[in-house]
Amino acid sequence: MDTLVTGGTLLTMRGDRLGVVDDGAVGIEDGRIGYVGPAAEAPAPSDADEVVDASGAVVMPGLVNAHTHTAHTLLRGGAQDVPEIEWMNRALGPLSAHTDEADRVAGARLGVLEAVRGGATTIAEYASEVGTLVEEVYRPLGVAVVAVETINEVPDERDDLGPRELYPFEREQGDRALARADRLFERFGDDPLVTPAYGPQALDMVSPDLLQTVQSHAHERGAKLHVHTAQGEREAIQIEERYGDDASTVSVLDELGIVDDSLVAVHCHGATPAERRRLAEGGAAMLGCPSSIAAIDGIVPPVAEFREYGAPVGIGTDQAPGPGHHSTLREARTAATLSKVEQADPTALTAPEALRIATVGGAEALGIADEVGTLAAGTRADLIVVDTDRLSTAPAVESPLHTAVPNLVYSTTGREVRDVFVAGEALLRDGAFVDADPAAAVDEATERAAALYERASDDWRGADSALVDAVDDGWL
Ligand SMILES: [Zn+2]
Repeated sequence: MDTLVTGGTLLTMRGDRLGVVDDGAVGIEDGRIGYVGPAAEAPAPSDADEVVDASGAVVMPGLVNAHTHTAHTLLRGGAQDVPEIEWMNRALGPLSAHTDEADRVAGARLGVLEAVRGGATTIAEYASEVGTLVEEVYRPLGVAVVAVETINEVPDERDDLGPRELYPFEREQGDRALARADRLFERFGDDPLVTPAYGPQALDMVSPDLLQTVQSHAHERGAKLHVHTAQGEREAIQIEERYGDDASTVSVLDELGIVDDSLVAVHCHGATPAERRRLAEGGAAMLGCPSSIAAIDGIVPPVAEFREYGAPVGIGTDQAPGPGHHSTLREARTAATLSKVEQADPTALTAPEALRIATVGGAEALGIADEVGTLAAGTRADLIVVDTDRLSTAPAVESPLHTAVPNLVYSTTGREVRDVFVAGEALLRDGAFVDADPAAAVDEATERAAALYERASDDWRGADSALVDAVDDGWL
């Protein structure tokens, strides 16, 4: 046996509860879980090359950050507190248009390290040229990635378009993106840590014909189709203008035959309850990004509602300009607290449910639950050790209830994550990265961000978002 993690409280996530094992142990061999159960019945520590003492800690599956655009992390702090209608085209757009590939890589490295420091072992990365991020960031760091290639037909320059003017579509641009998505399967198909997927960005950004073509490619490869679905007023206006006043994103997706078990519907806050139910009953999974949608739209995404419909549900941190962070435990807390506010019900989305969403729920939604999201013998050894004896998480008692469970969701800052293993390899030990250099990532990101903002300054000012006024009024 390579590693024995012993003495902690296991949350295995097996079955439909948390699968708690007090004083448990996990044995790792050749990157896979060989033993999971009571420490008293585990192989002897003397049989392990390395023993990790997890007493005073919880041992659980690595967190699944199920929807991110970490390449935007360089723009953290650059597009918050603006009206939703301005966010993409007048606040983020004028900045992101000036990023180059090295900026996006540097941003992604910062975001991925932040996510891993907070306990994520699998990250779903949604980006144009996502293969570059896989090569430059994920593989060198040894982090598992669901690599979603963005596919859209809308040229980048659109900050001069009014909200009721239809985005122009350029089919060749969409076809090139589809070809890049197809190539991911050849490039990374034999890498167990990389799961390629298709990302038709949103119904207002792809034509029906391309969307159906992408779906057929996904079906051929047994892959998922990640679509930002009903993500707000800007999209709703485009759908009305293009498909008629009675049309909505979900109604058009349904007519086109896109609603099935390959669809991973992201956000969904602009859909009606009946449409959400239709998505769930049609087999779609749902990914919610509560702190992003709260920050950008002032809305609570229907994470709790989709759970009630029985759909696989995961959570993600989306992009840093918006929620501001890539911590999956913070996202679990936000999901739980906002759901309570939305439903005016403190029992909405409980801590155990939030922990399941952040692990096995995300894995199910992404289609990787046979390997990820639970602690089970024979699956990949992606797991984390989280201290429950810190100022923020103590006291943890096991009787009459496990206080560690709510404390993990409501009380952690993310820094309590002590050890992170992906495929049995330690990425983080005792709170420190084993190989990666976070200080260098911060320095590079800061240097690049300063140059980027300088390059983009005139365009940013010319786009005249609410942030320009905030600067002129002395707030920022
Ligand atoms: Zn997104």
